[in-house]
Amino acid sequence: MKVLLIDDDPVTKEIIFSYLETLGNDLCYAKSAEEGLDLLSEEKYDIVICDFILPSMNGIELCKEIRRREEGSLDYTYFIMITHKLSKEVFNNSLSCGADDFIFKPFDENEFISRFRAGVRIIELIKRLKSAKQEIEEISRTDYLTGIYNRRALMEILSAELFRSIREKTELCVAILDLDNFKNVNDVYGHFVGDEVLKGFVEIAKSCIRRYDVIGRFGGEEFIIILPKTTKETGYMVMERIRSTLEDKGIKTSSGTINITVSIGVACICDSKNVDQLIHDADISLYKAKTSGRNRVEVFNDNQNCR
Ligand code: GH3
Ligand code: MG
Ligand code: MG
Repeated sequence: MKVLLIDDDPVTKEIIFSYLETLGNDLCYAKSAEEGLDLLSEEKYDIVICDFILPSMNGIELCKEIRRREEGSLDYTYFIMITHKLSKEVFNNSLSCGADDFIFKPFDENEFISRFRAGVRIIELIKRLKSAKQEIEEISRTDYLTGIYNRRALMEILSAELFRSIREKTELCVAILDLDNFKNVNDVYGHFVGDEVLKGFVEIAKSCIRRYDVIGRFGGEEFIIILPKTTKETGYMVMERIRSTLEDKGIKTSSGTINITVSIGVACICDSKNVDQLIHDADISLYKAKTSGRNRVEVFNDNQNCR
């Protein structure tokens, strides 16, 4: 645990450090509330042990400030107040202002360690809660079959990228990729092999794009690739690379190599100023690619004529 002790008395510091050092804690010390708050601004501490009486700001005010900083987040500092004498008022005020526990001086080592361990339990629970939340967030943004972004995540990322390219006045391309006659794969080889084809296609597409391009599954056998800082010409070239790699290599599955092609529609921010428009434009190009014989890349142009 990362522990911060805030106390102006060096003797108390020695006692508390001697209790906690053996428990494998990372201990830090501040001799005033201001110094403590500075340290708390720089780094996250799991447990704060704080003397109620400090030179300029008392423990309750300090605790209030910590709670104010944590408002609305899953960040939590377990706060233990230490003080000399039992005053019901100080005790009640401390708890109602956000302190989690109280330890009275002179300390009893066993009691101190037991109360500290109760804090450790709470902090460990919060850490588990945070990582579970992170995991859920990741799952909610991931396509289960292929492991790439799902539609929901794609739309969020596209919004952010669009906003960024407008602000930075850079190009941005979006491509919709739709496997050709994919239904036939399912019909001939079965759904399981169909799934293998979808996964294999994602690997091919990933191998043709840059690290900061974004690929996601739009739904079924349709994928979207976001290409930041990319002109129409480069967008076309990258998509053409995916198209020709797929055509040349096919996809290895448990039923052997399956030859399949892809049709791709590309749109650029220079023609569309919002996400819906961008997707709509890419879709028009994709439709053109499909109706012009499939296995081709079409790029949207402002005059509605694709390249
Ligand atoms: P087109 O060239 O016009 O795009 O024809 P298509 O056959 O690729 O398109 P269509 O929309 O007729 O069929 C898409 C198929 O994709 C139908 C659906 O069952 C299949 N599909 C959608 N999601 C999955 C999936 O997760 N796994 C598998 N195996 N198949 C899927
Ligand atoms: Mg489709
Ligand atoms: Mg298709």
